[in-house]
Amino acid sequence: MSKADIGLIGLAVMGENLVLNMESHGFTVAVYNRTTSKVDDFINGRAKGKNIIGTHSLEELVSNLKKPRKVMLMVKAGKPVDDFIEALIPLLEQGDIIIDGGNSNFQDTIRRTKYVEEKGLFFIGTGVSGGEEGALKGPSIMPGGSPKAWEYVKPIFQSIAAKVEGGSPCCDWVGENGAGHFVKMVHNGIEYGDMQLICETYQIMKDLLGLSYDEMHQIFKEWNEGELESYLIEITRDILAYKDTDGQPLVEKILDTAGQKGTGKWTVIASMEAGVPLTLIGEAVYARSLSALKEERVEASKIISGPKPKFEGDKKQFINDLMHALYASKIISYAQGFMLMREAAKDYGWNLNYGGIALMWRGGCIIRSKFLGKIKEAYDKNPDLSNLILDPFFKEKVESSQESWRRVVTTAISNGIWAPALSTALNFFDGYRHERLPANLLQAQRDYFGAHTYERVDRPRGEFFHTNWTGHG
Ligand code: NAP
Repeated sequence: MSKADIGLIGLAVMGENLVLNMESHGFTVAVYNRTTSKVDDFINGRAKGKNIIGTHSLEELVSNLKKPRKVMLMVKAGKPVDDFIEALIPLLEQGDIIIDGGNSNFQDTIRRTKYVEEKGLFFIGTGVSGGEEGALKGPSIMPGGSPKAWEYVKPIFQSIAAKVEGGSPCCDWVGENGAGHFVKMVHNGIEYGDMQLICETYQIMKDLLGLSYDEMHQIFKEWNEGELESYLIEITRDILAYKDTDGQPLVEKILDTAGQKGTGKWTVIASMEAGVPLTLIGEAVYARSLSALKEERVEASKIISGPKPKFEGDKKQFINDLMHALYASKIISYAQGFMLMREAAKDYGWNLNYGGIALMWRGGCIIRSKFLGKIKEAYDKNPDLSNLILDPFFKEKVESSQESWRRVVTTAISNGIWAPALSTALNFFDGYRHERLPANLLQAQRDYFGAHTYERVDRPRGEFFHTNWTGHG
């Protein structure tokens, strides 16, 4: 077999599927895994008869690669990535490329890009989304790192990526050093938000409207045929219809404590550092934390009372309201996510293409949706758009959804139904659209107890005042 176009280390679900995807697009791939028996299992199993070269050491892997060599890591994020980089550096030559395709923290990718470039090599840190199926059939790929490396990996990445309308690949260069992993992190944060919003609408349908699983399945089916069409609505439709062996909905039997691996938390930390009000993703992360307090909630439910949900209105109308509330909240979530990327781009010197990012998320990944096509259109029309909700299409959408959205949030709250993401979205909208917020009083309080000073509305910005609040007045 001739030398390989790319090498891949890490034969777990993601790695194996990416290799098969690359091979099916005409690339020869050399593979290695720490536990080398997995190389043999793969070569004698799923990779049998394919242009895939199994290797049992990093030396053997590297010697089987065309130059400039491209070695992609699909291993557990964190120390294993640093260990492999360290082991590969002495085996590679100037201009060779190390690619990290795992869910690495973007700060690690900034550090690794610098380190690897100092050794005369190139580094790419890329987000890969779409789970194992995406990896095999076409993921969304978000690469950043050393710009000079892009031309060498571009043909491989763009041919294995998901394709959307017109055959555009869901993969393009994101930006320098940690930009790709940053964008993947925000993608995951948005995923947390979308999932929480869907869960809240489900809870309202179930506990307030008293809908059956078959009715809810039908509603999600209809929603997936309209503006809300997306992968997450589609899988929710299927989950709601899935029956256990006793004929009961399986989802009813699943323990209500959510897990998390950390990318949502990283997104919220990044928002705190950048000073961006990423309230919806924040609520979505905390919602998982609250769900995890199962034992405490069980105890509290026996002690603390609240309103008993009771719905007296028009159910059909309210289901329509729910659809608008979900859509409007989703707009807010994406608007906040793009605000974070815009701020980070300034802080880290990235030149992000927001329309391009929307296109990368349009297919292949977990948050893929029709809606992202609209976001792409908004940024294509105006690349300098300061906030998504100011785009004419989205502005009209949130405004026309307002009545429904307010009805859903107030009804949920007055019935004691937990809806943190739907409510925070509406609260953000109400804060963002107000010229004046009560922060004037807040500044007075800060000045009162800490002499932190304040600016005045009747004087130029940048002039600071302090008042002795306990003196005359
Ligand atoms: P994983 O379970 O995260 O990692 C397993 C791989 O890492 C195996 O090849 C394993 O080798 C290797 N590994 C673990 N610890 C190691 C160490 N200390 N030294 C050397 N190698 C080590 O696999 P995955 O789920 O396929 O994910 C791979 C990467 O993609 C991760 O960063 C993950 O976060 C990211 N990702 C996953 C998904 C998904 O849906 N699973 C989606 C997007 C991104 P051994 O076989 O020798 O243990």
